[in-house]
Amino acid sequence: MSLKDYRFDGEEKLELRGMNTGAKKDGVDKEDILRRTEKNLGRIEALQDKLYADGRESVLIILQAMDAAGKDSTVKHVMGCVNPQGIDVHSFKQPTSEELSHDYLWRAMKALPARGKMALFNRSYYEDVLVVKVHALQKNYKMPARVLEDPDFFKKRYRQIRHFEEYLYENGCRVVKIFLNLSREKQKERFLERIQVEAKNWKFSQADIRERAYWNDYMDAYEAAVNETATRHSPWYVIPADQKWYTRYLVSEAVLGVLEDIDPHYPKLPPEHAAELQECREALENE
Ligand code: AMP
Ligand code: MG
Repeated sequence: MSLKDYRFDGEEKLELRGMNTGAKKDGVDKEDILRRTEKNLGRIEALQDKLYADGRESVLIILQAMDAAGKDSTVKHVMGCVNPQGIDVHSFKQPTSEELSHDYLWRAMKALPARGKMALFNRSYYEDVLVVKVHALQKNYKMPARVLEDPDFFKKRYRQIRHFEEYLYENGCRVVKIFLNLSREKQKERFLERIQVEAKNWKFSQADIRERAYWNDYMDAYEAAVNETATRHSPWYVIPADQKWYTRYLVSEAVLGVLEDIDPHYPKLPPEHAAELQECREALENE
């Protein structure tokens, strides 16, 4: 098994219930995976430095998952390796009233990475075809009847997202989408831990249990979102999330993959600059 078994780029349909949520079936060795992850993180750090110096492309990493799938710890461990000046992390919460008074991509656009930079979205505009779809939240939003009553409301959103991501690609921004695929049993285990361990209490809210009751609706919404928006240039990775050490490895592979594909280089100095550098060097040495 390798990352490509978890990659969806529009060729094959995702059947979420048939996907691995753990490391076991892949027959991997934990020590080996930990070593590989370290190596990947070093490579990511080096390539991120070049991406910044090169300044021509940007990378947007989108993390989506059910509660307790490990989004926060993935951000910490995988992105902790890169220079904080080169990456911006944005967490998308319930939209504010100002955000709701705009189209749903508005707040995401404001957070897009500048060229040379990476951005990580902890949740994203995908919430607008996930939580919004599961609870039909759009019904409470101020929008014209022709929009709200359209039976293709979500179909149109998928199309808008596909076009938006294509637009980004065509403008030098790569989009990589990651779904941390947690099992229902493992979520229960992690929720119980959040309740039992005092230091983790703050992470738990009763609302999390309410959302858990909609598990199957969420799985359907995720499956549809992946199948409708996975494309060659902005693929989805549906990554097993029951063991964090394995999740981190696969996420590091996905991030490394896009950076290697970009293949950034330190800019070459034009000859006149090289001569200037030489002059400066002589001046310093003769001080
Ligand atoms: P957390 O990531 O645990 O801090 O929770 C953030 C909450 O904001 C989650 O319950 C999300 O479902 C919710 N959220 C994020 N984006 C949206 C959105 N566009 N519409 C409604 N709820 C959202
Ligand atoms: Mg939460």
